[in-house]
Amino acid sequence: MVDRVGPLSIDRKARLQIPHEPVAKRPASVRVGDFCEVSLGYDAETAQIEATRCIQCPTPAPCQLACPLHNDIPLALWLISQGEFEQAANVFRQTSPLSEVCGRICPQEVLCQGSCTLMRRDLPVYVGKLEAFVADVQRERSGFPPPAPALPTGRRAAIVGAGPAGLAAAEELTRRGHSVTVFDAWPQPGGLLVYGIPGFKLDKRIVAQKVAYLESIGVTFVCNTLVGRDIRLDDLLDGEQFDAVFLGTGTSLPVSLDIPGEDLQGVYQSTDFLLTPSPSPPIKSGERGWGEEPRVGKNVIVIGGGDTAMDCVRTARRVQQQVGLADSRVTCVYRRSEAEMPGRAEERVNAREEGVLFEYLTAPVRFISDEEGHVRAVEFIRMQLGEPDASGRRRPVAVPGSNYVAFVDTVVCALGYRADPLVAETTPDLRVNKWGLIVVDPQTGATSRPGVYAGGDNVSGADLVVTALAAGRRAARAMDEYLRGLPVQETYTMPQVRVAANAFVER
Ligand SMILES: Cc1cc2nc3c(=O)[nH]c(=O)nc-3n(C[C@H](O)[C@H](O)[C@H](O)COP(=O)(O)OP(=O)(O)OC[C@H]3O[C@@H](n4cnc5c(N)ncnc54)[C@H](O)[C@@H]3O)c2cc1C
Repeated sequence: MVDRVGPLSIDRKARLQIPHEPVAKRPASVRVGDFCEVSLGYDAETAQIEATRCIQCPTPAPCQLACPLHNDIPLALWLISQGEFEQAANVFRQTSPLSEVCGRICPQEVLCQGSCTLMRRDLPVYVGKLEAFVADVQRERSGFPPPAPALPTGRRAAIVGAGPAGLAAAEELTRRGHSVTVFDAWPQPGGLLVYGIPGFKLDKRIVAQKVAYLESIGVTFVCNTLVGRDIRLDDLLDGEQFDAVFLGTGTSLPVSLDIPGEDLQGVYQSTDFLLTPSPSPPIKSGERGWGEEPRVGKNVIVIGGGDTAMDCVRTARRVQQQVGLADSRVTCVYRRSEAEMPGRAEERVNAREEGVLFEYLTAPVRFISDEEGHVRAVEFIRMQLGEPDASGRRRPVAVPGSNYVAFVDTVVCALGYRADPLVAETTPDLRVNKWGLIVVDPQTGATSRPGVYAGGDNVSGADLVVTALAAGRRAARAMDEYLRGLPVQETYTMPQVRVAANAFVER
């Protein structure tokens, strides 16, 4: 391993003169024709130059502190600047279970890059794109590095939910010698990485490779199994002989607009809308009992202003292109102004480049049907900004008498996600708060039930991949201590779980 450079042994003034290396994107006119990734990423030469811009702040550097996983970014960037790409990837992987995913879809501008010292006078070092580059190089050259061998502990952990939180917990527990089985309601592991985030942001093959790697180190995946319906959490702990359980069930239910006409044909929730168009290899239309495949018309409106809304508008543009709809348009309708939009600016830029229109300070009042029960129009009302609300952003206030009607073919509601109460309702003594989120000890992820831990969106509310990964790892470390403290047991039989053909049917 190349040693860390001392902060005083580099010529910072010289480094400050190195211009930022921009990252190329595929042209908008080309990329709207498919679901492939937009960013072309760095190559070896540009990555080395960009990494050399890092002035090696003394550790812990601001970027490291701002990263929820506390990646040792200065060391990784030093190694990249030296051309030691695989070693740099190892540094990221020491703390990040999904480096190539975080490098692509973390909102770096408010995390590592947002706290880069260079921001005082220049663009930050593009840490995210560098992380993605070295993780890809290593994965393509030599695969995921195998874990250090661990003595089997004879302990068994069940993970409920194969999203980022569950995958992180599964990897950490396996590395510590425990036997791990992951249950998920979906046909394939990956959570929202597979069944939410579109392929133009994240190549789904990366998730499949990670899952294959986890299987290779001993993790067992049991899919199509909805815990709370096909098997209860108590059955896992009692009948199925697991010693501890991690709940990484996310927040899978859409937040409703609660206005008339939301159940009309042609009005979709983002979860359903994003499911089929993006080419997630394992998904077949209707596989999850989700109903019809979204029909995207010429005039699509997407309601919401976050990252999910951006994913929906850009997905709609691609589907319109694929089915050859001429003169089509997609409009994002948001009730505040652009300054209050919660999503990434980078995604809005991408959306605009791809031809998406934006309508601010506007909210829907009702969806209007045609004779066949299909949405035909939307009544909107104009908004103005009032005093700040609990989020610190100015509250949108309706302007009386400003209502108007606009014709539409398809509506997508992208207002966010809330917790599914199923596991809490079927698990006695599992404490949840008024939003249905699981209450945990923030240091350990321990819930009110001994031996049951939780983390990710089902604890924090809808958040980020990186925070879910951090929560999964944190809880796994606490579970490790808990498991090692249990009395020794002699026997173990493989869990017998009834696997539903389609776990989400009837829900
Ligand atoms: C459209 C969209 C775009 C996003 N874009 C970004 C982005 O660009 N960057 C970013 O950082 N974050 C993004 N996010 C947020 C990010 O995906 C989530 O914060 C993250 O996936 C949360 O991880 P998790 O493991 O907690 O939950 P999830 O990823 O939701 O995984 C939960 C898993 O639990 C399973 N499950 C739920 N209930 C049960 C049950 N009872 N029994 C069995 N299995 C169950 C589900 O099937 C699912 O597989 C986006 C989210 C969406 C919806």
